Amino acid sequence: MSSSLDIAIAGGGPAGLAAALYLHRVGHRVTIFERFGEPSPVGSGLILQPTGLTVLADLGLLDAILALGSRIERLHGADAVSGRPVLDVRYNARPGGRFGLAVHRAALFGVLYRAVSDSNIGIETGVELATLDTGQRAYLVGDNGRRIGPFDLIVDASGSRSKLRYHATTPAEPRPLVYGAFWASLGWRGEGFDEHALSQRYDRASVMIGVLPIGRSHPGGDKMAAFFWSLKPAHAEAVRTKGLGAWKERVLSLWPECVSYVAQIDSFDQLTLARYGHHTLKLPTGRRLAVIGDAAHSTSPQLGQGANMALLDAAALNHALKMNSNIEDALASYAGIRRRHVRTFQMLSLMFTPFYQSDSVFLPFMRDRLVAIAARMPPMPQLLGSMVAGTMVDPFRLIGLTEPDWTRLGLTAAKAGS
Ligand SMILES: Cc1cc2nc3c(=O)[nH]c(=O)nc-3n(C[C@H](O)[C@H](O)[C@H](O)COP(=O)(O)OP(=O)(O)OC[C@H]3O[C@@H](n4cnc5c(N)ncnc54)[C@H](O)[C@@H]3O)c2cc1C
Repeated sequence: MSSSLDIAIAGGGPAGLAAALYLHRVGHRVTIFERFGEPSPVGSGLILQPTGLTVLADLGLLDAILALGSRIERLHGADAVSGRPVLDVRYNARPGGRFGLAVHRAALFGVLYRAVSDSNIGIETGVELATLDTGQRAYLVGDNGRRIGPFDLIVDASGSRSKLRYHATTPAEPRPLVYGAFWASLGWRGEGFDEHALSQRYDRASVMIGVLPIGRSHPGGDKMAAFFWSLKPAHAEAVRTKGLGAWKERVLSLWPECVSYVAQIDSFDQLTLARYGHHTLKLPTGRRLAVIGDAAHSTSPQLGQGANMALLDAAALNHALKMNSNIEDALASYAGIRRRHVRTFQMLSLMFTPFYQSDSVFLPFMRDRLVAIAARMPPMPQLLGSMVAGTMVDPFRLIGLTEPDWTRLGLTAAKAGS
């Protein structure tokens, strides 16, 4: 699109901040609207996959995030009772030197937010958006009735609980998933844990415990770990009532090596209860509206793709606007170029989650016996590696992105102490 558009972005999470950077860079007038008074990251840690890292490289932010995160080479899980390995996925099962980068959410947020501030992109904080109004031009409407606009385009990046996506052509709401998790950000303690792996222990599919090294939340900070314990949100109150001591005892009975992490938890206040839902908009667009990130597709973090898909959406929307001469065509193109990748990974996440988080006895039995063995036979290691990397379906070609030289970057990340 040759003309410069007035664009409002609802939400200052990874999707909204990345979209703002892209759209500002090609000359659009962009303003971000965010409910928080002070923009701030939510939650503990996440893994940036080669997909998300490629987007950050395209935005010129790769060195900044590599300097903070922890390079991840493998995802490893074992049965808590027998100790039998159940999951061993390695990024390097395919050639190319790919890796993941586990980060504290504050690190990802900080890197994107600093770039937005340095670019002088407008951010209005403390704005609770309630709906939008689209016609010849588009307006955001605050919960106090304030009409904000007009804009040529609204980008809904307001996350899984979006109030704006009702205006998409085919709206949909997340279906709550039965399992969620307690999450905590703790100090990193090596003590037998691999600094380049996500380590997990399972008891059937009703318990999943995880330790993920996430590097530093800010330059000069201490190294940290994300610790999680899956549970049904409906059971959280009962766990709290039984007391912290009983919960710690249960964790340590299943995974005694976690002692130096559990010892850092003095109160349930340190454990954030995360609830998960699943939805995929058939068409993440509406009149003068593009829906990106979790607002368009949410799921459980089992495959660790959510933030990465949000970053890819931002890159795809920018590409679609560049390649088309009017907004309608650009929106249709945005939906088209993300469709296959989004649907594939949403389906895989829905399929895999019950093997790790459900009440089923049969699925974890299959996982531990058949799947664990099959996963070692070619081409399964390669397939699993590309599934976790987010590249099983090529997300790059249609949005004009090229992967960086992973081997060189791996050395940079190692040098940065990650
Ligand atoms: C426990 C947990 C672990 C996860 N682990 C991973 C992982 O390993 N890898 C991975 O890729 N993903 C992971 N995810 C998913 C990932 O966090 C999300 O996919 C990602 O944050 C989506 O980014 P977003 O910008 O679309 O939405 P969000 O990060 O939710 O940002 C939305 C923004 O919009 C603002 N907002 C919302 N509503 C309004 C409103 N009405 N008015 C104004 N502002 C509003 C919010 O304040 C927020 O700043 C995990 C998620 C959870 C919960």
